[in-house]
Amino acid sequence: MLSSEIGTRVAGSPQEDAAATYASDQFLAWGYDVEVQDFQAQGADLQRHATLTVEGPEGVEFIVAALFGSRSGEARGRLLDAGTGQPDDVPADASNAIVLIQRDDVPFLDMANRALEAGAAGVLIVNKEPGRFPGVLEPAVDIVAAGISQADGAVLRELLAKGDIEVTLDVRESVTAHNVFARPASGTCRTLSGGHYDTVPWSPGAYDNASGSAIVLELARAAASAGLSDHCFVLWGGEEGGLQGSRFLISELTDNEIELLEAVFNYDAAAGPGEPQLIGATSLAGQAKALADELGLPAGITVLPENASSDHTAFLDAGIAALMLTAPDAGTLHTPDDTFENLVETSLQPIADLGFALLQEIGSP
Ligand SMILES: [Zn+2]
Repeated sequence: MLSSEIGTRVAGSPQEDAAATYASDQFLAWGYDVEVQDFQAQGADLQRHATLTVEGPEGVEFIVAALFGSRSGEARGRLLDAGTGQPDDVPADASNAIVLIQRDDVPFLDMANRALEAGAAGVLIVNKEPGRFPGVLEPAVDIVAAGISQADGAVLRELLAKGDIEVTLDVRESVTAHNVFARPASGTCRTLSGGHYDTVPWSPGAYDNASGSAIVLELARAAASAGLSDHCFVLWGGEEGGLQGSRFLISELTDNEIELLEAVFNYDAAAGPGEPQLIGATSLAGQAKALADELGLPAGITVLPENASSDHTAFLDAGIAALMLTAPDAGTLHTPDDTFENLVETSLQPIADLGFALLQEIGSP
């Protein structure tokens, strides 16, 4: 559902809204009280929601991926083809235009600077392979800059072949994102199981993290039907922009609620081909590993790579015992290939089974 029907779910996008509504409806159907927490997500340059709109009767909107180092804001003008962005390709006077450049062998920084020098308001780079891509302007350039998929770029070129078109390239500075927080009838959270449902702009996010979101929903359903009380569930938004949803949720908890919370379980990237891995608070990891052994479920204990983070980190930072349950991927993380079709779901069931066993053992009478 999340990766195939809704697709890429960047914080603040209509797709993220659709995913939040879907999750909220599910929780409500199982008898939970649902709170949708809105928060401002910002400052994470790689994750800004961005769109390209073709104005006029042919009006159509594409999701694009803002370049890191792009200016935020709305650039509107005619779309000008600037080849592959070689010095001769960019028209000398592109004032207030949006220049369309085919990604080939010119560095993004040169493309953006040439467009800026020619007076352009924006630069739109067409990918040279399927899907969208992450791109970096280092140092930042004072122009609105984004990448568009190969397929969408082809549609734009077809429109352009028929005559002049006016477009708006909009890179949002700050967006409203959402957490979908489900509490049982008792209102008490002795445990909190969560996963983020947002994605990076260039990926449908099946493995990262429709897989973890699906486990959280399934645990909520199973806990309700087994009559386990005092367990809460959440789908976090804004993770890819720096754990913004989990940090916001923590800021909304009262001291008493934090006191009652025995454990937080974070399901992120949970359907890889590798052995399920437990990452986080040592005591929780040990307890989960012992439980897995007892149940004959595969599980190892490890630590996150240096440059990686996930929502459990926000809880650990706040002094709350938290554990991440994950499974090493097949190399699709944060790529256009992270699709439902490419999911290797070997670890999905054992992680969900372990998750349910943890709810029976921790925080249940
Ligand atoms: Zn993730």
